[in-house]
Amino acid sequence: MTNICVIGTGYVGLIAAVCFAKVGHKVVCVDNNQEKVDKVNGKIPPIYEESLQEYLNEAIDSGNLRATTDLHNAVKESDATFIAVGTPCREDGSINLDFVNSVIEGIGPALKEREGYHVVVTKSTVAPGTTERFIPRLEELSGKKCGEGFGICMNPEFLKEGLAIEDFMKPDRVVIGQSDDHAGNVIAEIYQPYETEIVRMSSLRAAEMVKYTSNSLLATKISFANEVGDICKRLGIDVYEVMKGVGLDHRLGPYFLNAGPGFGGSCFPKDVSALIHKAGEVDFNAKLLKMVLEVNHDQPYRVVDLAKFKGLRDRIAILGLAFKPGTDDIRYTPAKPIIEEFLKEGKQIFAYDPQAMDNMRSVFPDITYTNSAREAVENADMVIIVTHWDEFRDDNLYKGKVVIDCRDIVKDRCDMDYEGLCW
Ligand code: NAD
Repeated sequence: MTNICVIGTGYVGLIAAVCFAKVGHKVVCVDNNQEKVDKVNGKIPPIYEESLQEYLNEAIDSGNLRATTDLHNAVKESDATFIAVGTPCREDGSINLDFVNSVIEGIGPALKEREGYHVVVTKSTVAPGTTERFIPRLEELSGKKCGEGFGICMNPEFLKEGLAIEDFMKPDRVVIGQSDDHAGNVIAEIYQPYETEIVRMSSLRAAEMVKYTSNSLLATKISFANEVGDICKRLGIDVYEVMKGVGLDHRLGPYFLNAGPGFGGSCFPKDVSALIHKAGEVDFNAKLLKMVLEVNHDQPYRVVDLAKFKGLRDRIAILGLAFKPGTDDIRYTPAKPIIEEFLKEGKQIFAYDPQAMDNMRSVFPDITYTNSAREAVENADMVIIVTHWDEFRDDNLYKGKVVIDCRDIVKDRCDMDYEGLCW
């Protein structure tokens, strides 16, 4: 088993850390946020994910996991360091590498003092060509040569928030780009217990491109489904029925064909933007990807238009704030533009989400957050179902209300004035 350092204790870093610990690796999590470090050591998950509490308890109790702010010693004492800090989007669509670059500045001097070989792994999503640029800087800071004293890999992460632990423990594949075979072998060995196909790439940049391509294709499927859904709505056709017929074609598959209020989260919007930007740098106009973002941008406003068409009510319940169920993540959630538009219209908002209300309070401190879906609905005359949490499937909730269902979860039920977003 391997001594692993994971830098960044967020959605990706913490999940990777507990899942590495689960199969017996010795893991140290590094974060520059002391509060997160204290929480992890105190067995309090700083984020919400199914099963994370059990995994964290087990990892700490077994002695396989600890957290620290001391990056230098954590790297020095490990065989491999996974970088899992954020790579947010800049205004121009490119990715902001400030967090990753600052981590590289910390890893270099630790590599210098480390006795023995070490592999530095980029797990954060970065644009093609990024990881290879770390090599000269790490060589300069460590005084060691890549391929001898240390190696470098790119190992993109494909987990889905809401099912993150399951995805990490049973991945469809593990992709490894490598500076050299030795480095790739160390990382492949770490993933051996997960019993999945390990895809070794011929270059670091090819591994980086796999991640962007996967996310761009998934985002494209969603925008495609939303566009078809918008056409279906005008034609009086149920897009879910259509996509059932479409998705049974094994060349297409049933996944990511559910029309809704648009994709959100920390990955699809920023990764598609980053690929468009990267293409621009090499003089290519990524027209299709630009349209994917445009369709997605418009989708929340279709929800608002539909609400206006039904006759806007003064008191509106918003059910679901997280960008998807199973997470407390509100990054790029369609709930934000929807709430903003209703506030512009002077409407009163009653919002409920089983996990994401604390995060949303910092964005909309002045709307009313309720203790249950029922309380939100009872206070309102119009209900917008934004996120498909299971608890919103209870059709008794909606009696006598105008309901805009963005997720096809209470269709064809009685006793409400129902309108589906794309059906
Ligand atoms: P996050 O914002 O949840 O976590 C990042 C963590 O890094 C935070 O805890 C932050 O405090 C810490 N950090 C920042 N700078 C640091 C530093 N200098 N030293 C130590 N810690 C530092 O981000 P995330 O959602 O986990 O995403 C991380 C990366 O993984 C991104 O590149 C993202 O695109 C990619 N990714 C995310 C997902 C996802 O579903 N969230 C899935 C696949 C890939």
